[in-house]
Amino acid sequence: MSVWTVVEHRAGAMRDVTADLLARAGGLDAGPVTAVVLAGPGEADGLVSGLPPGAHRVAVAEHPDLAGFNGAAWAAVLAALARREVPAVILGAHSAAGADWAPALAALLDAPVVTDAVDLAWEDGALTAQRSVYGGKLHARVRLAPASTTVATVRPGGADAPLPAGTAAVDRVEVQVPSGLGKRFVEWVQEAAGSVDIAQADVLVSVGRGIGDAESVEVAEALAEALGATVSCSRPVVDLGWLPKERQVGVSGKTVKPKVYLALGISGAFQHVTAMKDAGCIIAVNKDPKAPIFRTAHYGIVGDLFKVVPALIKAVREARGTA
Ligand SMILES: Cc1cc2nc3c(=O)[nH]c(=O)nc-3n(C[C@H](O)[C@H](O)[C@H](O)COP(=O)(O)OP(=O)(O)OC[C@H]3O[C@@H](n4cnc5c(N)ncnc54)[C@H](O)[C@@H]3O)c2cc1C
Repeated sequence: MSVWTVVEHRAGAMRDVTADLLARAGGLDAGPVTAVVLAGPGEADGLVSGLPPGAHRVAVAEHPDLAGFNGAAWAAVLAALARREVPAVILGAHSAAGADWAPALAALLDAPVVTDAVDLAWEDGALTAQRSVYGGKLHARVRLAPASTTVATVRPGGADAPLPAGTAAVDRVEVQVPSGLGKRFVEWVQEAAGSVDIAQADVLVSVGRGIGDAESVEVAEALAEALGATVSCSRPVVDLGWLPKERQVGVSGKTVKPKVYLALGISGAFQHVTAMKDAGCIIAVNKDPKAPIFRTAHYGIVGDLFKVVPALIKAVREARGTA
């Protein structure tokens, strides 16, 4: 019995979620962990050397049709390998890539599948999963039918640190990619210059509708600059055109897990909170003492953000000697 984690990478770079997957796989206690690397010719070595700890074995498949990303090719190759080795669980990220290959793989293997799990456990020879539903208001526990192989994708950001480093044996596996998959990878297209990934930030200064208008966003930008932080926002701020969509935190934006999350003029609707509640330290500034954000925040300041934020900027600059 073994557990596979499908290594997530993009344009040759390992994605952080791979560490999460390896931690989850080890935590299942359903057998040794194999990290599966699917890549184009010559791409795998860099990925293998950058692999986070946690795998007992690394299976590497290189093929020209695996260059870039093609969900149909990944599903076909994983299905062929899984028929050979019959892993108990195949884990992937609940990401754009995972949402593409995982259900297709389950269909090819006629295997049970659960997507977007926030927690997983191996109980009596079957996988149970916790899924966050209704925008995070409820968690549903589901038990998958026992099967020789089960497929699961997990929401990034939920696992603790992976297992300590060990030496994983690297197996190069021969694979064929069937023809006639119906699509082929063409190219990666870079996001426009200047775009930011709020999911990667350690400190986020997040603004809500309470900021009032587009011009006032500069108040938050000044605090972010003083802190070395990135500016993010709630959905109305995007809908009103005050900040671009890439800055939006929430169920219809990005899930974030920074070390520090400052919420300025954000009420704390569950569609927002569900995507930032795992931040290390949440500090909310809101003039309404009954704002729901205070139920999630570790520290709350009841007050007008236009008075509180300049005071914070002053304090940060003084503390850093940049006043
Ligand atoms: C399907 C769906 C998907 C959604 N997806 C998202 C999503 O991805 N992300 C998201 O954020 N929302 C999302 N929403 C919207 C969500 O329900 C809320 O409407 C939204 O999060 C509220 O944003 P807000 O807190 O900025 O604004 P509001 O709820 O209007 O809150 C503004 C807050 O600012 C405070 N305030 C006002 N002035 C000041 C001041 N001077 N100083 C201090 N505080 C002040 C007020 O007291 C208030 O609490 C979604 C909704 C739906 C239905």
